[in-house]
Amino acid sequence: MIYQLLLTLLLLPAPPGKKVITGNIITDKPQTYSTAALQLLLKDKGKVVGKTVTDNQGNFTYSFPGSTPPQVDVLYSSLGISANAYLKTVDLTAASDTVRITLVLPAPVQQDAAGKTLCPKCNKSDETRVILNSGIAPKVTKIVEKNGKVTFSPIVGNIYYMGSCMGTTMDPGWHCNRDNIFF
Ligand SMILES: [Zn+2]
Repeated sequence: MIYQLLLTLLLLPAPPGKKVITGNIITDKPQTYSTAALQLLLKDKGKVVGKTVTDNQGNFTYSFPGSTPPQVDVLYSSLGISANAYLKTVDLTAASDTVRITLVLPAPVQQDAAGKTLCPKCNKSDETRVILNSGIAPKVTKIVEKNGKVTFSPIVGNIYYMGSCMGTTMDPGWHCNRDNIFF
């Protein structure tokens, strides 16, 4: 019995090394977007699982300390920014321990045939809305659920009201309600 167990353990494949995400971030709008000292957030199902900061050239590296999710969303954050903004979903299932990526800042945004903005994550346009910084008096939609619970949504019609009067030139301009991401 013990020998069988030992044999089974010996025959197991060697555990893979730790996953590393490395790469660089580039922008074609250097007047508006800075790639240096930018905080990058790695999210798995909406939860932050890792953070790293770019160097002066926009290079970054992150080593997962333990188990690695099959994919992570990479978002950026910056001082004074109104919301963390989505950049890319990175697949981590490749056999190689090191995943090299190039991120484009901001995430390239495309439009569908009807001229509606496509979400860079789900690639659909039906839940995307333009963001308006509405300052100290944000508009909201009152939602009464079946059980009587009242919640408020910042989405009114085709606009997502941010309710932030500060902000930077690096603020995201769009929101996808399906993925709950800003981009
Ligand atoms: Zn989406």
